[in-house]
Amino acid sequence: MRPYIYAQARTVREAVRGAGPDTAFLAGGTTLVDLMKLEVMSPDRVVDINRLPLDGLTLDHKGLHVGALERMSDVAAAPAVRRHYPMVAQALELSASAQLRNMASIGGNLLQRTRCGYFRDVTTPCNKREPGSGCSALNGINRNHAVLGTSHACIATHPSDLAVPLVALSTTVHLASARGARSVPLDTFYTLPGATPDIENVLRPNELITGITVPRSPWAAHSLYVKIRDRQSYEFALTSAAVALQLRGRTIVNARIAVGGVGTRPWRLTAVERALAGRPATSATFEAAVAGAAEGARPREHNRFKPALLRRTLVRALTELHENR
Ligand SMILES: Cc1cc2nc3c(=O)[nH]c(=O)nc-3n(C[C@H](O)[C@H](O)[C@H](O)COP(=O)(O)OP(=O)(O)OC[C@H]3O[C@@H](n4cnc5c(N)ncnc54)[C@H](O)[C@@H]3O)c2cc1C
Ligand code: SF4
Repeated sequence: MRPYIYAQARTVREAVRGAGPDTAFLAGGTTLVDLMKLEVMSPDRVVDINRLPLDGLTLDHKGLHVGALERMSDVAAAPAVRRHYPMVAQALELSASAQLRNMASIGGNLLQRTRCGYFRDVTTPCNKREPGSGCSALNGINRNHAVLGTSHACIATHPSDLAVPLVALSTTVHLASARGARSVPLDTFYTLPGATPDIENVLRPNELITGITVPRSPWAAHSLYVKIRDRQSYEFALTSAAVALQLRGRTIVNARIAVGGVGTRPWRLTAVERALAGRPATSATFEAAVAGAAEGARPREHNRFKPALLRRTLVRALTELHENR
């Protein structure tokens, strides 16, 4: 680990003052410290934000408001989340390990870096870590990599489980910098890799996530997160699906769907949502609606199974959600 300056901030203003491209904010540290030890990230200055007043979880008529420093385990256990946004609680509970969830924050989870092995191995070329150096995954071991939203420069998946239901539910991310506060839909917060995979989101260098708002909706309370992985715990997703349905009798009035493990960012499936709306909630409807879920997918040598697995994951999620209502 390279030497760096450590500072503690007590206010948001103090945290963002003087922050720049070589500053990193320290929340739970479960990603940042790991990557600093590997020298994948080498900030000159680390600003500890744990004393900022960015905790708290409230539910009102607008929706669920969660401070960036709320811990993953606390959010997963909150009665308001379990009751009104079950797939958010489920995505958190299926993430990492209990110890990590006790330490890791909501803001840090949304800003964790990819788990592409080449990104974490500084002896290999990686455009995301070192722009212009090449992508080792394109013709390397790419079983865990993305099939949607990829580019010639990067095929890394977005790793956050939490971001998947949050994208499905049209969550807003609240940001603060020395220039003031702003809010951005999570749907447009993450950028596609294109030719610049080192740029992963619209966050400015001195900007802090202060919290999120998940809107109230007629479908969030009837939702489910399904995660498919190589082992049943402590593993990132091969595919995942966050599905929410609003039903009137047996008819689907509205659907919200996003998937993980397959895209370079959390992937909303609006075409599948449209294909479900107005139809009876039957297995025939589910099968037909997900037929085009992986449209535009560009699999590589080791992840050709992902489009079919994605379709099966979606049918399973929709079926389980409908049967268990
Ligand atoms: C072994 C292992 C398994 C894991 N498995 C999963 C999994 O299955 N699913 C999953 O989703 N995640 C998984 N994770 C990732 C884990 O959830 C993240 O490490 C964690 O959520 C990051 O939160 P943190 O508070 O520790 O962030 P930190 O490590 O403190 O920060 C992460 C990044 O975000 C920045 N940052 C943090 N907070 C803010 C803020 N408020 N504003 C601006 N920038 C900020 C930091 O500067 C840093 O770049 C796993 C991690 C490990 C180590
Ligand atoms: S997929 Fe992206 S993160 Fe992985 S080696 Fe290629 S450029 Fe780096």
